[in-house]
Amino acid sequence: MSRIFLLLWVYIWIQCPVFSQVENWEQKAKEMVDNQIKARGVSDHRVLNTMRQTPRHEFIPNDQWPYAYGDFPLPIGYEQTISQPYIVGLMTSLLKLKGNEKVLEIGTGSGYQAAVLSPLCNAVFTIEIVKELAERSAKTLKDLGYDNIHVKWGDGYQGWPNEAPFDAIIVTAAPPELPPKLFEQLKIGGRLVIPVGSIWQELWVITKLQGGIMDKESVIPVRFVPMVHPKKPIPNQE
Ligand code: SAH
Repeated sequence: MSRIFLLLWVYIWIQCPVFSQVENWEQKAKEMVDNQIKARGVSDHRVLNTMRQTPRHEFIPNDQWPYAYGDFPLPIGYEQTISQPYIVGLMTSLLKLKGNEKVLEIGTGSGYQAAVLSPLCNAVFTIEIVKELAERSAKTLKDLGYDNIHVKWGDGYQGWPNEAPFDAIIVTAAPPELPPKLFEQLKIGGRLVIPVGSIWQELWVITKLQGGIMDKESVIPVRFVPMVHPKKPIPNQE
């Protein structure tokens, strides 16, 4: 009998955030940044500091907490993943944010990437195609006190026309080709960081030059979940 109580207690302890804490998460986040991100060449101090201060475990299911600061992507439900910390750091640094920008993110997922962007810019607009993930990440971000992030359930291929143009756009799911509306919604001088491809994907930094000319630079091969089209039309959220 006492065994059953013990097992029950362990189960409650693992499942319930009130009891279960990630011990010393600031230290784990610091080691994650130093060993996985800085060591691989990301040098933007604002990005590194922000990632040291962002509680990554808060964005993933409780049963994944022991792995929250590990050097790999993690499942977040609905067949989606939160990216490897290094990729989050690299993509964020490629945006070269100074602090005043209006940023669009496609693929909110857990909300972690949006949380990392939040202190680095003026406002984040983020679109997620899976309704449950959009709702869950909006709640997580609100509960954690992020107040410059706007989450929308919608199709990222359409961008966010009412809020365009954007100083920077980051896409965290891979389309087979660059979605034209995202380039349209980028300001002149703005930067778009996006994985493009199907089986073989590359991370691109696309800059919009004077006259709307596109400058493209390939950074590294990557592996992202596909950027999909909606199965049913998504009602307008505005
Ligand atoms: N940035 C996320 C991880 C993204 S995983 C984080 O920090 O956790 C990629 C996400 O893109 C998934 O949640 C997936 O549902 C979403 N997605 C795929 N196609 C999309 C589309 N057309 N528009 C918006 N989101 C899309």
